[in-house]
Amino acid sequence: MPNSLKDIMELHWLFDMLNHIDLGLVVLDQNYKVTLWNSFMENHSGKSSSIAKDQSLFDLFPEIDKEWLQRKLDNVIALKTPIFVSWEQQPYLFAFKSYRPITGLADNMYQNITLRPLANADGTIHHVCIAVYDVTDAATHKLALSSANRQLEQLSKTDALTELHNRGSLEKALSIIFSAYQEKPTSAHSLAIVDLDYFKKINDQYGHPIGDLVLKEVAKLMSESTRRGDFVGRYGGEEFVVLLPNTSSEGAVSFCEKLRKKIEATDFKTDKGNIKITISLGVAQLTEQDVNTSSWLTRADEALYKAKTAGRNQTVC
Ligand code: GH3
Ligand code: MG
Ligand code: MG
Repeated sequence: MPNSLKDIMELHWLFDMLNHIDLGLVVLDQNYKVTLWNSFMENHSGKSSSIAKDQSLFDLFPEIDKEWLQRKLDNVIALKTPIFVSWEQQPYLFAFKSYRPITGLADNMYQNITLRPLANADGTIHHVCIAVYDVTDAATHKLALSSANRQLEQLSKTDALTELHNRGSLEKALSIIFSAYQEKPTSAHSLAIVDLDYFKKINDQYGHPIGDLVLKEVAKLMSESTRRGDFVGRYGGEEFVVLLPNTSSEGAVSFCEKLRKKIEATDFKTDKGNIKITISLGVAQLTEQDVNTSSWLTRADEALYKAKTAGRNQTVC
């Protein structure tokens, strides 16, 4: 067999392989017109090679960000160097459907894209090859994992029973506000410790599960009463802390009294009938005397103790 025939046969095989490879291949000329469109592109776009050929890519896919892609393609030709765009920078270039019914995580195919300059025999570059890698599996795995991690992280910050912030994240929040105060001592920040009155009696009379239910409902009422930026955490047992940034002690007392009256007026509905409960509250505004967050907490705790000894169901500052 003459060498030239062998070369042509090899070229034919090569072309056949490229056409049927599980990878999108598009060749564009300098005017962004399609000169090659392989079967991957045909199958996923629904546009046959005969339709795509000699058409501008931007006419075929008007949804592509033209300015962005043109800039990339022009750079590839001018600098004679490939450019890689990962799915994390941009989920896809071509809006192809993904066919992964089981995961249900991805409607569109995630794609990694390479733009590669194609040199002519004389070294000049008039064409760019776009390679489209379907990375939907890897992308959805990674996304699912990071969503699970976020949930886990959230979980470790929340109290399981009340879904409020737990003690650990409460302490972090206190430190953040404490540092903010040291940077700007003219700012006013307050905290309130909230303790349920005679809660032991509720447990004794109705049982622990009903006690839990009441705790959950009180926590919900507290969350609903706060503003954005306020921070509600379960400090322990039946004690809660409400952190009120940018709030003076007067503002905090007025918040506490509203909350106290709301809880006093609430009938907590349970299987064993309606339950009434009251709360006592101790308020402290952060001052220059507070050397750390625990001295701030201690002052609020002392105020709470006064509220308890003075008869409960009240706020002391
Ligand atoms: P006081 O008005 O002085 O605060 O009286 P109290 O009975 O609320 O105070 P005490 O600290 O003696 O009792 C707290 C009770 O809260 C005892 C404990 O069993 C109950 N408790 C703490 N954590 C939970 C919980 O997660 N679920 C339930 N159901 N009860 C809890
Ligand atoms: Mg109590
Ligand atoms: Mg207590």
